[in-house]
Amino acid sequence: MTTNAQEFARARGAMPGGVNSPVRAFGSVHETPRFFVSASGAYVTDVEDREYVDLVGSWGPAILGHAHPAVVKAVQDAAAHGLGFGASTPGETELAELIAARVVRPPVVERARNERDETPWTGDDSQARDVSSRFARSTTEAPVGRVRLVSTGTEATMTAIRLARGATGRDLVVKFAGHYHGHSDGLLAEAGSGVATLALPGSAGVPAPIAAQTLVIPYNDLDAVREVFAARGAEIAAVIVEAAPANMGIVPPAHGFNAALADIAHANGALLILDEVLTGFRVGPAGWYGIDPVPFAPDLITFGKVVGGGLPLAALGGSAALMELLAPLGPVYQAGTLSGNPLAVAAGRATLDHLDAAAYARIDAASTTIADAAASALSEAGVTHVVQRSGNLFSIQFAETAPHDYDTVKAQEAFRYPPFFRSMLEQGVSLPPSVFEAWFVSAAHDDAAVARIVDALPAAARAAAA
Ligand code: PLP
Repeated sequence: MTTNAQEFARARGAMPGGVNSPVRAFGSVHETPRFFVSASGAYVTDVEDREYVDLVGSWGPAILGHAHPAVVKAVQDAAAHGLGFGASTPGETELAELIAARVVRPPVVERARNERDETPWTGDDSQARDVSSRFARSTTEAPVGRVRLVSTGTEATMTAIRLARGATGRDLVVKFAGHYHGHSDGLLAEAGSGVATLALPGSAGVPAPIAAQTLVIPYNDLDAVREVFAARGAEIAAVIVEAAPANMGIVPPAHGFNAALADIAHANGALLILDEVLTGFRVGPAGWYGIDPVPFAPDLITFGKVVGGGLPLAALGGSAALMELLAPLGPVYQAGTLSGNPLAVAAGRATLDHLDAAAYARIDAASTTIADAAASALSEAGVTHVVQRSGNLFSIQFAETAPHDYDTVKAQEAFRYPPFFRSMLEQGVSLPPSVFEAWFVSAAHDDAAVARIVDALPAAARAAAA
């Protein structure tokens, strides 16, 4: 048996930093990364044969728990028929149909729709209601008419941006500080998540002219949105936004923020790209789109993580009019050798098929129990903190008041997270190795798994207090 330290030393000789994605190096929590050899349900096991209750969930995809038997069987069955054809398969159509059918607003939000008329966005109303984009639709229409399958969330957002530029004939993109949309050149500025963990403002290697095409503004700040459109509105192709940001810790959108954003973008002939790579099919059957208290009409939605059930698959969707600007029908090029890979499609379909009301109820309940227990343990230990939630996603922030944007997130006492994290790990709980990441609960987090987490929290909270 090797140790985690031995594996890490060997890995560093073979791969930069010993990893294939930076946060995995455990740098910000000053700990040796664990090298896992197996995972089942709510648990992962490392090379030292230590088992941990897992709250990383493969960074989101493992929503049914690791190695869910139905997902594994679907992948095995698909593999037996061939690993990939570089040609179309019936399964891809079925997955695309499944995505389109799921992403609709449930009737229970009718009340909230009316609420919107009473609490409109706090800006120039006449401008907001003049939805002039030729692609903008009503808030009652299903937003996904066509789907394209890709392999990563990065590809999904990158393609959505290219499509928005192709559709509008404009170049600029507005993004929010602290939002992560993958690692394509134009989207790395103030990108939260891994770059925040490493305290980088962006990335070296992004040419200045490309960075200049992205206008970065503070989140939850409609004045900043209005100002950027007042200054450069005619050049802006799209606003891209995390539906409910989860890559600077959890920072929920202010009531009606997404709807106001859609209105302002549309009033200026720009598109709204709703990034649901992380929230999609996790916070509910229709993602954040389905539960935002104020209905709105995104033009493009990106999906990843859950939709691939643990294998490399992501997607983007939008109206037929917009999506059919993609090649082969339209002039916006996009392609992929492994796009719609049959194993990934099988994993995605099996995962969505098993994400029923009972699964969401279990995830929501476990997540509430863990979040409440974390808050109590930290209060008990006298640690200043806020537990922010967006549906069943939550994270701890070591701040007095709830951070609402990247600056307030960065102002927290982040130094309290590493000792908290290490204590949890010592006690057999694997948390995300960064204060800027969400905690991912799965449907396999049964009472026993939740109890192990809850039992570990008081000691971790005391470690954070020190
Ligand atoms: N968008 C969001 C909101 C994400 O959270 C992520 C990944 O964490 C991405 C895009 C990029 O996805 P991927 O890592 O699959 O490229």
